Amino acid sequence: MEVELIRPIDGGARARILAPPFFLLAYILPVSCLGAAGFVVAMVNTDWAAPLSGAALWPMAFLVAAAFVGEVKPLAVSRAFGPAETISTSAPFILALVSVGGVGFAVLTQVVASLADDILRHREFKKSAFNAAQYTLSVLAARLVFSTLAGVPFFGGPVKVDMSLLVPLLAGGIAMVGVNRLLVAIVVAIAVSQPLGHILRADGAFFAATQVVLLSIGAVAANVAESGIAFLALLCAPAVAVYMATDAAIRHGYQASHDSLTGVGNRDLAFSQLGSAFIAARGDPTRGPGLVLLDLDHFKDVNDTLGHRVGDELLLQVAQRLVAALGDNPLVNRLGGDEFAVVVHGGLAESTALARDLLASLEAPMRVGGLELLVRASAGVAVAPEHGNNVTTLMKNADIAMYRAKLERDGTSTYSPEFDVNSVERLQLLADLRAAIGTAELYVAYQPQVDLITTRTVGVEALIRWDHPARGLVPPDNFIPLAENSGLIAELTAYVLDTALGTLAEWRAAGYDLHMAVNLSARHLSDLALPGQVAEALDRHSIPPGALVLEVTETGILSVPARVDAVISALRTLGVAIAVDDYGTGHASLSYLKRLEVDELKVDKSFVSDMGRDTHDFIIVRSTIALARDLGLRVVAEGIEDEETALALRDLGCHIGQGFHLGRPTTADQILLRLRDEQQRGTPCHAEVR
Ligand code: C2E
Ligand code: MG
Ligand code: MG
Repeated sequence: MEVELIRPIDGGARARILAPPFFLLAYILPVSCLGAAGFVVAMVNTDWAAPLSGAALWPMAFLVAAAFVGEVKPLAVSRAFGPAETISTSAPFILALVSVGGVGFAVLTQVVASLADDILRHREFKKSAFNAAQYTLSVLAARLVFSTLAGVPFFGGPVKVDMSLLVPLLAGGIAMVGVNRLLVAIVVAIAVSQPLGHILRADGAFFAATQVVLLSIGAVAANVAESGIAFLALLCAPAVAVYMATDAAIRHGYQASHDSLTGVGNRDLAFSQLGSAFIAARGDPTRGPGLVLLDLDHFKDVNDTLGHRVGDELLLQVAQRLVAALGDNPLVNRLGGDEFAVVVHGGLAESTALARDLLASLEAPMRVGGLELLVRASAGVAVAPEHGNNVTTLMKNADIAMYRAKLERDGTSTYSPEFDVNSVERLQLLADLRAAIGTAELYVAYQPQVDLITTRTVGVEALIRWDHPARGLVPPDNFIPLAENSGLIAELTAYVLDTALGTLAEWRAAGYDLHMAVNLSARHLSDLALPGQVAEALDRHSIPPGALVLEVTETGILSVPARVDAVISALRTLGVAIAVDDYGTGHASLSYLKRLEVDELKVDKSFVSDMGRDTHDFIIVRSTIALARDLGLRVVAEGIEDEETALALRDLGCHIGQGFHLGRPTTADQILLRLRDEQQRGTPCHAEVR
C-alpha cells in the first residue's frame, strides 16, 4: 500500500482545503531514516549466495518477477477526502520471499519494485524515499515475527515452509500489512488533519478481506516454491482473480460516489466528505468545517434554448474550472443539476475566500459548440459551528444562503438565521404567486411617459402589480426575482405583454396613438422563441410593432451575449424598439451599445431623482443624455419627482420623462381619462417621439 502523499500546496483555493502539512516532514523524515538504516543493516547481513545456489533459484526469480508485476500494477483507491492510496498485489510474493529467500532478498525486491513503480509514475523523491522506507520496515517486521515464532535466525537463509511454519508465516504476513497500513495511515491522518482511528476504520473491512486472501496465497506460495515454478505459476490465477475482483469493487465504489457526467464527486460523496470534515475539526471552531454551495445563474435558460447537449458541455467545463481552482484533490462535488458543493477544512474567512475564488474561476467566457457563453453563479456559505453542528443543518443552511445570493444578485452570501424566515416566506410567496397567475390578484399598472416639451403623454410603461390577499400590494422587486428563479417569469411576461397590448389596442381604437413599454427579464433574452411570441401577441391585438418598446437591463444584455444578440436583432427586425432600462446601474461596459442595436436609453432614477442637489448625478445625467443623442438613441429619464428636474432635463436635451411628478403608475381607465383631458385641453394629439 502506498500513498500519493504531500501534494504541493500552492496557495489560492487549494491551500484553503487541506490543512497545511507542517507536521508531515517531522513524521516522514524519521521514518525515512529508520527505513534506510534497516535497509542497510539487512543488505549488509544477508548471505546473498545461499538462496541463489541450488533448486530455489528459479522459484525465487519467479517470486521476484511476480512481486514486481504486483507493485507496478497497483489498485487505486480514492478516499472521500484527502490523498489517493494504492493497494499493490505484491504482498503474497514478498511474504513468500521472506521465508523462501530470507529477509535481504525480500527487502531488496520490495524496495526495487517500489522504486520502479515510483519512477514509472514520476513520483517526487521524498514520496519515493518514504514509500521505500515504510516497505523496508514492513518486511523487517514480517521477518521479525516469523523468525521469532519459527525459531529461525533473523538473517538466516531460505527456510522451507511446512505445516509447522504456517502460523509463524501468516503471523509475519499480518505484521507486514499491519505496519504498512499504519505507517501510511499516519501520513494520511496528518495530511488531512483527521484522527488516525477514523482513517484506519475507513474501508477497514474491505482492506482486511483483500489482505486475508493475498496472505493466504503467499503462504501457499512459500510452501509450493520448492516444488518448482509450475506450482507457483498456478497461484497467479487466484492472485489475478483477487486483483480483478478488487478492481471491480473499487470501480463500482467509485461510480457509486461520482457523477458520471463531470467525473466529480456526487451528492453522497459530498455528504461523506462533510461528515469526515466534522470529525477532523473535532469541535475546533477555527476549522469549521465550512461548506460552499454553488449554483449557476439562469442555467435553465441555457438548457432550454441551446439544448441539453450544450448544457451538459457547459456543466462539464464548469466542473473542470472548479477542479482546477482547487488543485487535483477530489473535492468538488455535483449535487445534481447545476449545483456544486465544496467542503472546506477551515472557518468563515477561509470558506468565503474560497467561495470568491470559485466564482472567479468561472469568470472567463466558456466556448461551447461555437458559442461563447458567460457563466455566472451564486455561492452560499455556511460554517460550523455557528451555522450548524451537523451535516444536514450545514447543507440546508448553505442552500438557504445560496438562494439569498441569487435573490440579492450579489455573488456570495453567508448564512444568517434571519434568512431562514425569509426562505420559508420565499417558498410561501412563490406558491402564492403561482396560484395568483390568471386571477385578479395580478394586474398591470401603466405609468405615463411624457414629452417634456409639449407635456403630452406619448407612451406608458406597463408595470405588474400583485395585490396579495393577506400581504396587500407586494412590490415587483420582491416577487420578480422569485419568478425568475423558478421559471414562472415566462408566464408572467406573457400575461403582461398580452394585457398591455390588449389595453393599447383599446386606446388606439379610441384614437390615441402612443407607445407601450414592457419590461423583459434577463432570462428572456436568451430565449430564441421570444421574437415569435412577441410577433404573435402583436398580431393578436393588431398592434404595429413600432408601438412596442421592450425594456431590458444591462445585466440581461450581458448574460449570454451570443444568444442575446440573436434575440435582440430578431426583435428589431420585427420592428419592435429595444430600450436599455436602469441605464448606468449595471456592470456593463459601454461597448455593448456599439455592438447591439438598441433604440432607447432609460436613465436610472437613482441618478435623476437627486440631480438637482447632487452635482455628480447631474453630470452623469448630462453626459448620458449627450451620449445617447450622439449615438442617435432616444433617451427617457426615469424617477422625475419635481418640476425643476423636469425642466432641467428638458434643457439638457432629454425629451421624454417618467416619474411620480408626471404621473404615478395607474389603471388603464385613468390613462384614458388623462389622454382625453390632454386632448380637450388642446395639446396636440400627436407628437414625434425623439
Ligand atoms: P423599472 O422597469 O425601472 O420601472 C420603474 C420603477 O420605478 C417602477 O417601480 C415605478 O413605479 C418606479 N418609479 C416611477 N417613477 C418614479 C419616481 O418618480 N420615483 C421613484 N422613486 N420611483 C419611480 P415598480 O413598479 O415597483 O417596479 C420595479 C421594477 O420591477 C421595475 O423597474 C422592473 O424592473 C420590475 N418590473 C415591474 N413590472 C415588471 C414586469 O412586468 N416584468 C418584469 N420582468 N419586471 C417588471
Ligand atoms: Mg422598466
Ligand atoms: Mg428602470
